[in-house]
This record gives sequence, C-alpha cells and structure tokens, in this order.
Amino acid sequence: MRIVLVGPPGAGKGTQAVRLAEKLGIPHISTGDLFRANISRQTELGKLAKSYMDAGNLVPDEVTIAMAKDRMEQPDAENGFLLDGFPRNVSQAEALDELLRDEHMTLDAVLDLEVPEEEVVKRIAGRRICRNDSSHVFHVTYSKPEQEGVCDVCGGELYQRDDDSEDTVRKRLEVYHTQTEPIIDYYKAQELVVTISSLGPVDEITQRALEALKREKAGK
Ligand code: ADP
Ligand code: AMP
Repeated sequence: MRIVLVGPPGAGKGTQAVRLAEKLGIPHISTGDLFRANISRQTELGKLAKSYMDAGNLVPDEVTIAMAKDRMEQPDAENGFLLDGFPRNVSQAEALDELLRDEHMTLDAVLDLEVPEEEVVKRIAGRRICRNDSSHVFHVTYSKPEQEGVCDVCGGELYQRDDDSEDTVRKRLEVYHTQTEPIIDYYKAQELVVTISSLGPVDEITQRALEALKREKAGK
C-alpha cells in the first residue's frame, strides 16, 4: 500500500505511522525524521534544514522533494510506503503524483488525522523524542517512558525538539493551515481522503486507522 498521513503538528502522525507501518509491512518515511537525522550528522542538508525548521517554516521544496524521492527509491519501499509529513504543500503533492506516475504507481489512501487545536498544543508541549532516532516519541504525561528522560526503545536520551517551543508551534500551526491543509482538497478531488479522529488511546486510533483503510480498499 502507498499511504500519505496528514494532520496538524502533534496530531500523532509519527506515533501512528510507526504502528501502522509495522502492521502493514511497509516502511515509515518521515521527512521530519530524515531532516533531524541530517541535523545530527551535521550534513550540509541538515544545516540548511535546521534554519527553516527552527523558524517553523517549511524547508524549500527542491531539497525536500529530492530527499523524499531518494528515500522512496530505496528497495524496502518497492511494494509500498507510509509517508509522514510529506507532501506538505500542493507543489509537493504534484511532484509526488508525477513521481508515482513515472513509475506507473498510484496512492491508495490519504489518512487525515483530526484533532482539536487545544489538544495538539498539549501534545506538543509534552513531547519528548530520542537523540538516537526521532521516530521514538514519548510524552511527559500521555506516553511516559519507563524511566524519565530515557528512551524505552533504545536507551537513548530524550529531549524536547527545538521547534516545539510555544512561539514556533504557533508558526507551525499557521503554516499547516495555509500551506498543508490545501492538500486535503487536492486529494479529495482524487477521492483518496479517509478522515479519522486522532483522539483517544493510541492503540484505539491505530485500530480505527486500519479499519478505515480496509473500508477504503474494499470500496475501490
Ligand atoms: P506528529 O507526528 O503528528 O507531530 P506525534 O506522533 O509526535 O505527532 O505526537 C505528538 C505528541 O503527542 C507526542 O508526545 C506523543 O507521545 C503524543 N501522542 C500521540 N498520540 C497520542 C494520543 N492518542 N493521546 C495522547 N497523546 C498522544
Ligand atoms: P515534523 O517532524 O513532520 O513535525 O517536521 C518538522 C519540520 O521539518 C517542519 O516544521 C519543517 O520545517 C520540516 N519539514 C518536514 N517535512 C517537510 C516537508 N515535506 N516540506 C518542508 N519542510 C518539511
């Protein structure tokens, strides 16, 4: 399956993507995680991306699309992938369509995670991620690690993302509404959008998502 996950920052995309990718047997591709890995390796791409990320802006399309394309072309993504955080504007969605068309592929679904803004703000304020791998995500009250400050998955140090500060979050939400939300209409025109509530226990949301994807597949 080829799936795009969409939703505001803090909706639980990364949290759900890890679980869904495992259940569906496809790789989880997060452009945010790829940028953070570049930042920790101090690559040129990482240095460029950090300046945009810290301001809550989108990294320019050209580098983002090239990075996403490169990742989607890896052998593990041959039979499908779950995109998290990409595409993030209509130009990226058009670029993805073109890429898929060139390979005679199509998307199966766009899973839209709906969460009220006040919940998103609480989730982001308490989010902690792992230094070793930013897809290891915790929350100081909703999803506590067994030992404070230590990643349950790999023992790495947990920290708060630089762009999870209050000011940057406000900017990221604005960018979401103005630049990312329009992709929902773009994909509605292709009849690909499946909307679910991302409120409630993490496992229930995973179940909800799997059932919604199954219904979408059966309806085609
Ligand atoms: P996104 O990738 O959409 O930005 P994350 O998956 O990183 O969102 O989740 C944001 C924060 O909310 C994390 O700290 C995560 O532990 C927490 N979280 C995720 N899903 C839920 C949920 N269903 N209920 C409460 N907190 C959640
Ligand atoms: P995320 O981890 O998805 O919350 O993304 C963190 C930050 O990385 C965003 O605020 C952007 O600055 C940058 N980023 C991630 N994905 C993209 C994308 N598809 N296009 C542009 N910037 C991105």
